[in-house]
Amino acid sequence: MPSLQVDTIVIGGGLLGWSAAYPLVRAGQHVAVIDRADEGHATQAGAGIIAPGMNIHDPDAIYPLLEAAIDYYPTIVELLTEDGESNTSYESVGALFIARSDDEAATLPRLAEQMIARRDSGLGNVGEVTLLDSEGAQELFPPLGATFGAIHASGASRVNGRVLRESIRSASQRQGAQLIIGEAELRSVGESTVEVRVGSTQVYADSLVIAAGAWSAELVKRLGITLPIFPQRGQIVHLDMPDAYTGDWPIVLGYWTQYLLTFRPNRVVAGATRESESGYEVRLTAAGVKSVLDEALAVAPGLADATIAEIRIGLRPYSPDRLPVLGSVPGYDNVFLCTGHGPSGLQLGPFSGRLVAGLILGETPAIDIEPFLVDRFTGELGVGI
Ligand SMILES: Cc1cc2nc3c(=O)[nH]c(=O)nc-3n(C[C@H](O)[C@H](O)[C@H](O)COP(=O)(O)OP(=O)(O)OC[C@H]3O[C@@H](n4cnc5c(N)ncnc54)[C@H](O)[C@@H]3O)c2cc1C
Repeated sequence: MPSLQVDTIVIGGGLLGWSAAYPLVRAGQHVAVIDRADEGHATQAGAGIIAPGMNIHDPDAIYPLLEAAIDYYPTIVELLTEDGESNTSYESVGALFIARSDDEAATLPRLAEQMIARRDSGLGNVGEVTLLDSEGAQELFPPLGATFGAIHASGASRVNGRVLRESIRSASQRQGAQLIIGEAELRSVGESTVEVRVGSTQVYADSLVIAAGAWSAELVKRLGITLPIFPQRGQIVHLDMPDAYTGDWPIVLGYWTQYLLTFRPNRVVAGATRESESGYEVRLTAAGVKSVLDEALAVAPGLADATIAEIRIGLRPYSPDRLPVLGSVPGYDNVFLCTGHGPSGLQLGPFSGRLVAGLILGETPAIDIEPFLVDRFTGELGVGI
């Protein structure tokens, strides 16, 4: 049977897996990334909103991680550029938080103050915060219908998850990372050796990173761990506007759970469903696509004549407390989890990967990782490990 010895095996070739592999190869490690390339993996479907200052759904405990992740984005873009990858797609376009009723409009000044407070306490990507009327919002995003006003934050950014993952992958492979396509099966974990089988190949390593997205729980069962990460399906519609340049339009968010964002030259992305009962079924549903289009057209009737370019589906690796799972597995000092990023994996991914790589390299993490350790699931959620 063919075999391979590396320093670290990473299971999962989504944004999280490659974000962990990249700093390891840059530090001189031999790394093998094993990827099954599942249809419906989250990274290929992710919308790409990087606007944590505007988020109203995130738990407080995630903010130190978000702050560090936003600070890290320019660094990873710079490292990739140094390594010959100038197209990361990361750019600042600003975002609008719109009000759709008088009641919502009444909350905008308070929300704007909260955004400014987040910015002033160190959260990047917020920029200038301004209150706009309906016309002011339409000037920035022409297809919008009449609103009850909006907040504009100039610093919010977007990224195309597919493009970013490809640039990290190709920079890593150029520096020696090996990509093995296939299903990784965890065979054994000893104090200093991990054995993983892919088809007929045995791969041995000192350390293992599990970054298998929504499929992570199945892999760690072998270690006697019940990891409560589950798939949450997202259906997301890509529209093209044949006669408009959309590339500099801001992201559009609000109190409703959907959103709009754009990519060059004429794309508008309308997302997305949040289907927590979907299981692993990667399929478009009539009700899912209808709900996304209904919401998009209600907010931006000017999109009615856009071309439906494609509809993507991804399974978010969801964790019950909406916090990712990072750090080593209790009882296995050489096995690390880098998963559970749910709806925020594109924002957090590069930094989370860097953090886990740092743990393998023996570095002290830049933030307190206690809230993200897997053993938090032992008491209150009643999940045994
Ligand atoms: C519709 C939608 C919109 C989103 N919008 C945003 C957004 O605007 N901003 C944001 O920050 N985040 C967003 N997200 C979330 C983000 O996309 C995810 O959190 C992130 O991509 C997760 O990356 P991952 O690498 O953990 O998982 P994935 O990308 O799912 O990758 C996991 C990989 O592991 C592989 N794998 C699994 N098991 C095995 C095995 N046994 N052997 C080998 N390989 C295996 C899979 O094949 C897959 O390739 C969105 C997600 C969706 C679906």
